[in-house]
Amino acid sequence: MSSTNEGSPEGFGPGGSQSALRSANEARVLEALRSRGALTQAELARRTSLAPSTVSKIVHTLLEAGVVDMETDKQGRRGQLVALSSSAGLVAGIDMGRDHVHVALADLAHQVVAEQHRTLPHGHSLTKGLGAADDILTSLLDGLGQPRTRVISACLSIPAPVDADGSISASTLMPGWNGVNLASSAEEVLGLPVLVENDANLGAVGEATWGAGRDIRNLVYLKMANGIGAGLILNGEIFRGATGSAGELGHTTVVESGAMCQCGNRGCLETVASSAHVIDLLAPTRGRMTIPRIVELAREGDPGCRRVLGDTGRVAGLAVANLCNIVNPQLLIVGGELSAAEELLLDPMRQSVRLHGIPGAVRSLEIVRAELGARAHVLGAVAHALANVTPEALTATS
Ligand SMILES: [Zn+2]
Repeated sequence: MSSTNEGSPEGFGPGGSQSALRSANEARVLEALRSRGALTQAELARRTSLAPSTVSKIVHTLLEAGVVDMETDKQGRRGQLVALSSSAGLVAGIDMGRDHVHVALADLAHQVVAEQHRTLPHGHSLTKGLGAADDILTSLLDGLGQPRTRVISACLSIPAPVDADGSISASTLMPGWNGVNLASSAEEVLGLPVLVENDANLGAVGEATWGAGRDIRNLVYLKMANGIGAGLILNGEIFRGATGSAGELGHTTVVESGAMCQCGNRGCLETVASSAHVIDLLAPTRGRMTIPRIVELAREGDPGCRRVLGDTGRVAGLAVANLCNIVNPQLLIVGGELSAAEELLLDPMRQSVRLHGIPGAVRSLEIVRAELGARAHVLGAVAHALANVTPEALTATS
């Protein structure tokens, strides 16, 4: 294989246009940098399957064009790492929950340069939520002395399944936001191109990019909070299913004639393992406590708090085992506020998964706590926005 054809994608064989091949190879280098941040030239060659000499030439061209910078690595050796230029633009991640909005701005070298979290009234309207996101974005950009036109990609995280066209696809889960095309509403308010994605999917992307799931191609991120949802990364890609509802683990039935769920079904996992259920179970004997307080008491040895968290892990483990039998992930990353209980939740979950899953599907499964904590969704939104910056947008800014 000659060096000019090495690693060439389909359609660029011998006789293909040399300039098309060059730009295809350049696009692969840019793709590796925008999805992974700073890399050495050796890592770039490995990730793109291009020859080191080809990578070196491309890096040189991109440096001259101002699209990439050389950075100092962790050992302090200058010029060892290549990254997209921090002056080549910004991306925005916006995490919109039922009672908060969190906005983070990052440069293309994967550094978060500004972020702000704001509490909103529970069940706030879409208009209020987007207005708050717009406010925060203005104040963060003002603080950086940057115009809004510097933001070349944005991603909005929502706690509900999202259709391919950017609408919520299960209207009962976000009443009041029913039938609204979130992508176009957000683009109108923010004046930016906006991708809309489910929060658990973005938790998975965030953990796969910067957290517990780095370099793992088959993983599940399980959000355990007031809502329960799973984000699936299969063969290195978000798996959304036909209509964006893949991974709605919180609405799988675990008690056939159980309590009514907000989705209209009965006995969903969410009715027996959500934060609200944990609080409700303890309320008659202990009063209404927050999840952080319940976790604190459980760590101090409180038997009631330990029992409720353990039962929550066990019942979630039943649903996780069923999921593992179907998609056989390598890693399950547990996030959301209940994950603060760590082993008090995760050990019973592991036992339950081993009991209910088939050995082939769960034997090598690792179950760990998320590393990004409360920032998993906003950082996932940043990572998803970074991954969707087009080569054209990059070269347009240089
Ligand atoms: Zn349900």
